[in-house]
Amino acid sequence: MERIRLGNTVFEGENNVYLLQGDETVLVDAGVATDPTREEFVDGLASFGVTPADVDRVFLTHWHYDHAGLAGMIQQAGGATVHVHEADASLVSGAEASLIEDKALQQETFEAWQLPDGPREELLSFLEGHAELAGDDVDVTPFTGGDRFTVNGLELEAVHLPGHSAGLSAFAFEDDGERQAFVGDAILPKYTPNVGGADVRVASPLAKYVDSLVEVVERDWDRALPGHRDPIEAPADRAREIIHHHQERTERVVDVLDRHGACDVWTVSHHLFGELDTIHILHGPGEAFAHLDHLERHGVVEREATTYRLAVDEPEIEALFPDP
Ligand SMILES: [Zn+2]
Ligand SMILES: [Zn+2]
Repeated sequence: MERIRLGNTVFEGENNVYLLQGDETVLVDAGVATDPTREEFVDGLASFGVTPADVDRVFLTHWHYDHAGLAGMIQQAGGATVHVHEADASLVSGAEASLIEDKALQQETFEAWQLPDGPREELLSFLEGHAELAGDDVDVTPFTGGDRFTVNGLELEAVHLPGHSAGLSAFAFEDDGERQAFVGDAILPKYTPNVGGADVRVASPLAKYVDSLVEVVERDWDRALPGHRDPIEAPADRAREIIHHHQERTERVVDVLDRHGACDVWTVSHHLFGELDTIHILHGPGEAFAHLDHLERHGVVEREATTYRLAVDEPEIEALFPDP
């Protein structure tokens, strides 16, 4: 298996595209649909003697533009089958607009988070400038968790790991006695994948994501191949670390409400992250929302319209997170 690194700096830094060569030419993920990334991608494939028209199948870990953007171009070049989880399928096919393009969803989300006018305008103009990164519409072939695919003698199992996006899926396989998985943005080596802002369609995003992290711990893969940066050699440890990180962040959210009284999502985000720019104006309050929502679902905070207040004196935050 080969890795093609794309220097996309638009969202989360360098993207990985994985190439599996054999009877079939198969890709896991495709980069963002900009001209420079397309060139890098085509050059990367060429260094392995492959053109986009040679690609038989593309497996997408999730709908985000930096993972799915070039899938339409690849499909147009040679008719590749594009597999994506059913929960993300309509965003990749173009049947449904994401927050990046859906004005009504933007309005509803930014009202719920109480985004002030300045940051809101900055974010809207950022999103407007990035809508084209979605690339061309794709004729998708949806799958569900547990589906299996045989690729050049390897058996890939789709493992649904929702949270960062509704349909995010890993593809697990065993090769040379090593149990590995392409994990997209389910876990990343350096920073924690955004939850709450990265896919606003996900209900109770933090609970879903933490459950997905527990699944990663239980799978105990020998190696995870992420959508960004280098392979993760101890995925279960990394998943535990991320659960712990979210527990600490939840404690910080409780601390903000304790010190400042009732707050809206934007105010909590401001206390956690300070000034934000570009996509972080989406991801910061998204994170704050995910944690407030988690606390609300456990009765630790009460929400009145867009304002959250502590409902419990000394909450046991540890009890809101698993310890796998
Ligand atoms: Zn992503
Ligand atoms: Zn990503």
